[in-house]
Amino acid sequence: MFIETAHPNQTKLRRSDMFIETAHPNQTKLRRSDMPPRWGLKPSRMVVGYNHAAPTALDALQTGIDFMRSMRFIAAKLVLLERTHCLLLLMIMQSLACPKVANGETNRIAAGTGFVYGDIYLKHHTGEGHPERPARLTAIVTRLKQTGLLSELVAIKPTAAAPEWLVTVHTPAYVERVRKICQTGAGFVDSGDTPVSPESYEVALAAVGGVLAAVDAVMAGKVRNAFCAVRPPGHHALKDKGMGFCLFNNVAIAARYIQKQHKLAKVLIVDWDVHHGNGTQAIFYDDPSVFYFSVHASPFYPGTGGVEEKGEGKGLGFTLNVPLPAGSGDAEYRKAFVEKLKPAAAAFKPDFVLISAGFDAAQNDLLGPMKVTPEGYAVLTRIVKGIAEQSGQGRLVSVLEGGYQGEALAASVEAHLRGLKE
Ligand SMILES: [Zn+2]
Repeated sequence: MFIETAHPNQTKLRRSDMFIETAHPNQTKLRRSDMPPRWGLKPSRMVVGYNHAAPTALDALQTGIDFMRSMRFIAAKLVLLERTHCLLLLMIMQSLACPKVANGETNRIAAGTGFVYGDIYLKHHTGEGHPERPARLTAIVTRLKQTGLLSELVAIKPTAAAPEWLVTVHTPAYVERVRKICQTGAGFVDSGDTPVSPESYEVALAAVGGVLAAVDAVMAGKVRNAFCAVRPPGHHALKDKGMGFCLFNNVAIAARYIQKQHKLAKVLIVDWDVHHGNGTQAIFYDDPSVFYFSVHASPFYPGTGGVEEKGEGKGLGFTLNVPLPAGSGDAEYRKAFVEKLKPAAAAFKPDFVLISAGFDAAQNDLLGPMKVTPEGYAVLTRIVKGIAEQSGQGRLVSVLEGGYQGEALAASVEAHLRGLKE
């Protein structure tokens, strides 16, 4: 059982916030057995869940008290709730608002934002003049140090992902081919724009591993959400083909990991990179358990992502593309998120949200033709965070994709992280 409010800073439950959430995703109706028999409240009036926004047990208690006040107000109209019942309910709310066990593993009291980074990510070399270069991450980390934000984040160190997770998305033959190309120094994987160096395979495993570590940290309640400053990026990578600077599809693998390792049913992927994530879309095109939303420049590389691409078979309706013309900025992006993403996410009700967070739609980016400002990214962050909190208990992991102008990238990431941390 829990209390959930619309905004993390909102500690008092309003009538409009009330909804029913059950212990199991497939259980849509509240059972009488879920509640003690003498509360005198109709089950449809009961709010079940816990306050994931409460950063401490004390806050959880305070929220429980506020909840009690709300409940007494409502209960007064239904049946008189006796003082002893109120105290009993408060005790139960307090214990349940503290470490909550959902699917056997979640403790949602943690308040911090995780930051995945390791110097290993600098060892993937793409050659002179390539925009996807180690300096991208250096610019981010330098900025976060200068502003003091880095010390406010929870450091999550990457380890290499086990190859068994890569093959939940990629073919074993492709994984082996990438390994061999890197180790034999053959130059590039499948496409001339995706060069590799001898260490690139290990770096790519660490990129996937970093994202999976972030998922684990969120699921274990060590952090509330996390951002992964990883490279190489992933959203163009197909199950058997590398392209667009991407080797392994970090976000797609994380979605499968969330489902298989952590037993959560539905994952929403929000892709705001300026390029359409053709790889991610293709991987989940016929899969109704992963909703793929992309907003991107069009016409633009890689040429996919039209509004008519909506999924196929059982996955029809679980892909949503919003192509935008060059020159679009904060207003157009916000409109797409409010008018397209929010209703779709409300209907889908994700258990976990992943962001393919490219910042190449930023103003002044070297590749993207858009004009999104750092504040614009903060606004998008808040919207996606709200979606995660609405149905996924706040579970959110954001993963770096593109972003090719150091200063614009660093400023955008900082705004994004501040939004995650709020
Ligand atoms: Zn991109």
